[in-house]
Amino acid sequence: MLQRCPHCSLSYFPESGYYLGAMIINYGVTATLVVLIFLFSLLFPDLTRWTMNTKILLWMAFAIALSLLMMRHSYSFWLALDFWITPRQPKPPAEGRNNSNDGRSRATAIGEQSREMEEQQ
Ligand SMILES: [Zn+2]
Repeated sequence: MLQRCPHCSLSYFPESGYYLGAMIINYGVTATLVVLIFLFSLLFPDLTRWTMNTKILLWMAFAIALSLLMMRHSYSFWLALDFWITPRQPKPPAEGRNNSNDGRSRATAIGEQSREMEEQQ
């Protein structure tokens, strides 16, 4: 996933844990879809001769695959929803104490600062 919008350099990661809501949306949609399809499948009990363990494993694999397929969509939906409710302006990348304008993002600079602090200990 990109760190910033390539057009206006709006940060896609404004704070840590930003996409928790997207994960909750992803889980809710996945669980709803799996339960609905499972309930629909109860209408056809003799469709396969698989054992119950095989069916449970296939349902689990289906749920995992579905949530992975919808991850990017739920992230972009969450970003769009947040931007729709509270529009924010893109910040220039070199801002704050680190004024070296070498094109690195602020998060990278902060990460390097904390790494330097860990090495000093
Ligand atoms: Zn943009």
